[in-house]
Amino acid sequence: MTSSSSRPGEFALIAELFAPLATARHAFGLKDDAATLPVRDGQQIVVTTDTIVAGVHFLDSDPPGTIAQKALRVNLSDLAAKGAKPFGYLLALSLPSAIGMTWLRTFAKGLADDQAHFAISLLGGDTTATPGPLAITITAFGQLPKGTMLRRGGAKPGDVVFVSGTIGDAGGGLAVQRGEGKGWSRAVCDHLQHRYRVPQPRTGLGPLLRGVASAALDVSDGLLADLEHIAETSRVQIVVEGQSVPRAAALRAFWGESDEAVLRAVTSGDDYEIAFTVPPSREKKVMAAAARSGVPVSRIGHVERGRGVILRNPAGKPIPAPAKGWVHF
Ligand code: ADP
Ligand code: MG
Repeated sequence: MTSSSSRPGEFALIAELFAPLATARHAFGLKDDAATLPVRDGQQIVVTTDTIVAGVHFLDSDPPGTIAQKALRVNLSDLAAKGAKPFGYLLALSLPSAIGMTWLRTFAKGLADDQAHFAISLLGGDTTATPGPLAITITAFGQLPKGTMLRRGGAKPGDVVFVSGTIGDAGGGLAVQRGEGKGWSRAVCDHLQHRYRVPQPRTGLGPLLRGVASAALDVSDGLLADLEHIAETSRVQIVVEGQSVPRAAALRAFWGESDEAVLRAVTSGDDYEIAFTVPPSREKKVMAAAARSGVPVSRIGHVERGRGVILRNPAGKPIPAPAKGWVHF
């Protein structure tokens, strides 16, 4: 059911905007009540879901195409961190009446571009009107050989800790959006804001880490907060060398080089990189995976006996982290 007069009925809307995105045969052109998921012999389906809400994960004024891409990519990032190759997704939309067809067409175009880029298909979804803010829930499906999903619980003392890409750019982008960018060059602000709006899920790297990483997850709430999940589940302590955490040139210019700047980067979230641990004997395989996927990785610390996460400065002193990342409630 939809109530907005500026939009066609629910079924017309699905037929015009979403049916063309249902390219997989087993989505039946969105003309049935459900889709089927094909499973090849010896393979397993990996499933994940994430909701993004206007005013919480993006701003109402953000371009609709990048909102669509963020909604999809935060899910692809989870699949990548688990070592899965994505193949499809479901889309549940809660639409406020202010959202009209122009907005929705641009939104669907954003999805179409990303579907082509990541070789995935829309498989179904739900569309409803809401008196609240725009909310987008995507459930994504990936596959991998049975029993090979990367978990949080396998880190061992002596393992090395890696992270892909750069950390803190998205946090910088959010700060720019909140007005901290005044006086900074367009190039710096644009780079950081783009990283906030359109994450780069590491779908090429993730599957190559199967059988290599001892534990892995995607960095969404803040590097330290997410590494805490590995530390807790694996029952180990993780030591992070602050100056080894990869930060983009734009972010270094923007926030500087101090311990405080490093702390902001590792607690700000929305990075959508993969953090993982590896036994030292497999470090060469990590470098090979990075080279093959074209995704840079950096060694940022190690695993010890104990609990929790410690961030250290170059003098070896702990940098106290009052809050390790973003919590919703
Ligand atoms: P139901 O009455 O069971 O809720 P719908 O009428 O909502 O079913 O959905 C009809 C078809 O359209 C289904 O295949 C459903 O998956 C698809 N669909 C509905 N909304 C969306 C959407 N936002 N994106 C993709 N597919 C959708
Ligand atoms: Mg429905």
